[in-house]
Amino acid sequence: MVVGRVSPEVIFDASPGELFVVRNIANLVLNYELNAGYDGTSAALEFGVNALRVKHIVVLGHADCGGVRAFASEVAPLSSNDFIGRWMSLLSPAMQRLDAGDRASPEFLRRLELAGVENSLDNLLTYPWIRGQVQRGELHLHGAYFGVASGRLLVRDPADGKFRAMDASASEHRD
Ligand SMILES: [Zn+2]
Repeated sequence: MVVGRVSPEVIFDASPGELFVVRNIANLVLNYELNAGYDGTSAALEFGVNALRVKHIVVLGHADCGGVRAFASEVAPLSSNDFIGRWMSLLSPAMQRLDAGDRASPEFLRRLELAGVENSLDNLLTYPWIRGQVQRGELHLHGAYFGVASGRLLVRDPADGKFRAMDASASEHRD
């Protein structure tokens, strides 16, 4: 199961239907406790985990994320409803993980994109039926980050939380 915006079938070289994909802006997962219950991503997670019994969930972030950039720069709402603004406010805990920096710099945005993946992984564990299956070793959570321009995939190392290229020789935090 993959939560993200970019085309995971292509990145993971999977057949159509092999992956259960949930796309949303900025690959966000709501915290279970703060969830009002009308969220399609949470419903898809419940279906994937409890009905399809997926064994892996990948939170797939990506470079040059427009949602992340908009959140970091606090641009004016797109419309009076501003669903995007409210949705992107879910990224606030990720922002709080970061040291201060130039919010417009590519380096800061990249750190925020990676922190967003981390935040979604944390939030996945707030769902009791995900946490239980992870603790029993029946379900595995993964973080990944796709460099849209470079075509390179970075994978989060659970040992230290760092994102590294699939080929071990490449340096981290580069795409
Ligand atoms: Zn994005």
